[in-house]
Amino acid sequence: MAGNWKMNLNHVEAVGLVQKLAWTLEDKKHDPEKSEVVVLPPFTDLRTVQTLVDGDRLKLGYGAQDVSAHNAGAYTGEVSAAMLHKLGCGYVLVGHSERRQYHGEDDALVNTKIKKLLRSGITPILCVGEARQTREAGEHVQHTTDQLAGALKDLNAEQASGIVVAYEPVWAIGTGQVATPDDAQEMSAAIRAKLAELHDQSVADAVRILYGGSVKAGNVAQIMAQPDVDGCLVGGASLVVEEFAAIARFY
Ligand code: PEP
Repeated sequence: MAGNWKMNLNHVEAVGLVQKLAWTLEDKKHDPEKSEVVVLPPFTDLRTVQTLVDGDRLKLGYGAQDVSAHNAGAYTGEVSAAMLHKLGCGYVLVGHSERRQYHGEDDALVNTKIKKLLRSGITPILCVGEARQTREAGEHVQHTTDQLAGALKDLNAEQASGIVVAYEPVWAIGTGQVATPDDAQEMSAAIRAKLAELHDQSVADAVRILYGGSVKAGNVAQIMAQPDVDGCLVGGASLVVEEFAAIARFY
């Protein structure tokens, strides 16, 4: 269960949320063996989150929301995979629809970023999913599996097994319109079938598939009941501790 904070909470505010989240999960007897809980704060909070998690041995994973496609050098404003690895990041989002929409990221760039992360020992959380018009045209499966194939280009089976895929229909992100459990299952199954086609069934079985798009404590049960949904990528609700803690304990 991963919480994408997007561009919210400075490093001082992050302390409060992370501590409260850890206490709440402990208080509610959350079992980290059953569900891994990850927070994805802005870059500026990562050092603070690392210090908290390491210092208090919190059972929380953390990571970033993006990474540079370059290794190092004259790339003003960029943050490399090696830098994120040094900060202890276990996960990094790649290809979030907001990056695709506002920063023109395409599948080739996403593919390069995934390779950089894998080389640094960080697990990419690859976001894929269709816009409303694409779904209305009946092209949602093709569009999403094409994004998957483009993002995983040239990866071997071991590398492909090491990624997490988040199916996030663009029309459900931040809108309050959650996909139906049947839609979430249809797309997660299609993603798993594509992984088997690109590699083999063992890769398809190994990859964890998340659903993202207006997940809340009140709808997580139906989503998580779907056989091909392994977890959720949560935006807005991850900023509300009680809400995210309730989602995180759904297993
Ligand atoms: C997201 O940002 O990935 C997301 C799913 O946001 P929300 O939960 O707010 O729809």
